[in-house]
Amino acid sequence: ESRLVAELAQHDVLTSAKNRRVFDEYLPRLWRQAAEDGRSVAILLVDVDHFKPYNDRYGHQAGDVALRKVAHSLQSCVRRPLDLVARYGGEEFTAILYDTDGGRAESTAEQARKSVERLAIEHRGSRAGSVLTVSIGVAVVSPQAKRTPAGALQLADEALYRAKSQGRNRVEIMDEAEYQLLVTGVFSKEIADTLKQGGGKH
Ligand code: GH3
Ligand code: MG
Ligand code: MG
Repeated sequence: ESRLVAELAQHDVLTSAKNRRVFDEYLPRLWRQAAEDGRSVAILLVDVDHFKPYNDRYGHQAGDVALRKVAHSLQSCVRRPLDLVARYGGEEFTAILYDTDGGRAESTAEQARKSVERLAIEHRGSRAGSVLTVSIGVAVVSPQAKRTPAGALQLADEALYRAKSQGRNRVEIMDEAEYQLLVTGVFSKEIADTLKQGGGKH
């Protein structure tokens, strides 16, 4: 019974994906593991496109059903033992891929994007297409002494922002080279501010 309770506490009730708490605990753990093993980690941030108009048009319950399907699609693309899919919050999901370089991260993200598109969930209120789609921001980072999981997450968030602003239903990747730029704080004002406050130390 206690195992069942522990299992339930790890999952998001709506989608059955792992919940945010699990993600928050797992990322730093996997990060340390990757640092020890000299491996890279990829973080995917997945955000449903124009989901507010979806709810407005089809209703909140239909929205819930769509979120379940999206979660299921993502899970079907991320299946290695150390990888994780979690509901990050609202209509946002995240995936962590262990020992994954840019090429592999991109193909997994692209596979995930396509699998959501192939669900063919009608979305007449979307300006990104006629079906429900997702945008995915990917960060590929090798953990090093002065880098943090929070910094990598920021990088993925920046990539997601780029995917949104470049039209949605697309994957954008940011890697080590751009991480250097992030360290110097040339990115968006929000990130520069975070770095100044010390919240995004690398
Ligand atoms: P964008 O393409 O820029 O991401 O646009 P968006 O409309 O998806 O962005 P926004 O953040 O404005 O809307 C997110 C919506 O997700 C609003 C909220 O009602 C909906 N949402 C969040 N959690 C749930 C949920 O559990 N169920 C349902 N049905 N809707 C949810
Ligand atoms: Mg969102
Ligand atoms: Mg959205």
